Amino acid sequence: MALMTGKQYKESLNDGREVYIDGEKVTGNIADHPAFKPIIDVKARMYDINHEEKYKDRCTVTTEDGDVICRGYSMPKTKEDLTSIRTYVETVLDDLGGVVYRVGDETIGEMWSLFDAQETLNEIDPTYADNIKNHIERIAKEDIYHVSANTDPKGDRSKLFSGKAGAENNLLRVVEENDKGIVVSGAKFETAAVYAHQAFVKPTISNWTDESMLPYASGFICDMGAPGLKHICRSPLGKNRSKENYPISTQFDEIDTLLVFDNVLIPWENVLFHNNLKSVQFIRKNVHRYSAFNYVIRLLRRADLLLGTAVLNVEQTGLTSLPAVQEKLTELICYRETINAHLTAAVASAELSPGGLMMPNQSLLYTGRIFALKHFPAMAHLTRELVGGQIAITPDIETINHPEVKPYIDQFFTIGDWNAEERTKLLYFARDLLDSSHAGHQISFELFAQAPPFAQYAATFNNFDLNPARELVKKAANIKLPELVR
Ligand SMILES: Cc1cc2nc3c(=O)[nH]c(=O)nc-3n(C[C@H](O)[C@H](O)[C@H](O)COP(=O)(O)OP(=O)(O)OC[C@H]3O[C@@H](n4cnc5c(N)ncnc54)[C@H](O)[C@@H]3O)c2cc1C
Repeated sequence: MALMTGKQYKESLNDGREVYIDGEKVTGNIADHPAFKPIIDVKARMYDINHEEKYKDRCTVTTEDGDVICRGYSMPKTKEDLTSIRTYVETVLDDLGGVVYRVGDETIGEMWSLFDAQETLNEIDPTYADNIKNHIERIAKEDIYHVSANTDPKGDRSKLFSGKAGAENNLLRVVEENDKGIVVSGAKFETAAVYAHQAFVKPTISNWTDESMLPYASGFICDMGAPGLKHICRSPLGKNRSKENYPISTQFDEIDTLLVFDNVLIPWENVLFHNNLKSVQFIRKNVHRYSAFNYVIRLLRRADLLLGTAVLNVEQTGLTSLPAVQEKLTELICYRETINAHLTAAVASAELSPGGLMMPNQSLLYTGRIFALKHFPAMAHLTRELVGGQIAITPDIETINHPEVKPYIDQFFTIGDWNAEERTKLLYFARDLLDSSHAGHQISFELFAQAPPFAQYAATFNNFDLNPARELVKKAANIKLPELVR
């Protein structure tokens, strides 16, 4: 099968998947349901982009076998490939006019981490290497929308695996093996699962060292329409809101799901590792080797949205020439450019992976991710300050268009070339970027969706070579000790 169209994608979701939202069990195709339609339309547009002549070079690539595939699904083998992936993501986001994260190109990177691990995984257990290879090829060839499931609702974290907190019944686990495959039960939190085709399901973050953990130590591809799978979704953040008042929430809300596996059969050909602690240790350590790159590109676009919102606001209120305002804008510029620098340097000093792929420089990528996440709330606050109090007190569009109100709005909201209509558009955009429930949700999403901060710090620490600094000080202080290796 070749590149999918938006229409084919929407039709493909009509597979009888079991979906619950806002107290309702959804019947019919979820693509037509008002809760999911906006974000499904966004993903459908992404599929259509790949068919348009003007985007062909940036969004698709022809493989050695002559297949045309999405650029975001092509494994990077050179530094130029990494740059092309960045161009692809930026092209798509610019066309959409907003930032979406969990739309396939980010999550596919987890499969490339598995590709890198083939030799190691083969040594541990050769049974599943073909499955990994086949799935990586299949996702690209069939243009499959592939997402990621890591986090179980874990219960008492201090008693995980202890058998004392009922957690052993909650954690996703294998409950049966038969000639068709493994049968799994448990649950995962997962953004976009409800409108994706499949997920790479794997064990959650933990110290995977104890033999008692073996029933939980499996990774597999699960079809999102599989019998026994239940999508229990959170309410859309743009619900009952108009596009004019909430231009971001109503278009780009990526719905999160509690995905319940009630005795779901995973066919053997979809099992990527099974009953194996070393495989879990590997994937947990390297899961974001590639996907963090696509993630940080999105954080750069979010930085651009902050900067653009701030600068337009101070321009229309005539504040740009004040040195104190320029300093605040410069802080936003430094934030934006530091993320850009991490991405650029991560490509310039990219490294060959153990599997022969080109991976972004891991230390620079992970430090960039922490920098972007850590400073986002402060930068959002700075932008909020520059936009001013009107972000929170501007009446909605229905009120300002009321014939008896409109003259007052025109009087009090117009500033020079900025008439009331254009000014309120900017204020509504700023509100949805910084002050709405969607804005708050995005901060939590960015903080947690790739991993909680402590795990991101661990990834950064583990990918930085401390020896040069250690040796520098030993030499400078004339310390005579043998070289220490961490
Ligand atoms: C909007 C949103 C979307 C998400 N989408 C997905 C998704 O698509 N797929 C997916 O798999 N998951 C997803 N998640 C889940 C996310 O990955 C988890 O929330 C995250 O990994 C943290 O796990 P937890 O919530 O169980 O927190 P916990 O493990 O309970 O941790 C909570 C906090 O306790 C502290 N803590 C816990 N353990 C340690 C430790 N060992 N060392 C130091 N401090 C610790 C930290 O401060 C941590 O942030 C999403 C989360 C959000 C908020």
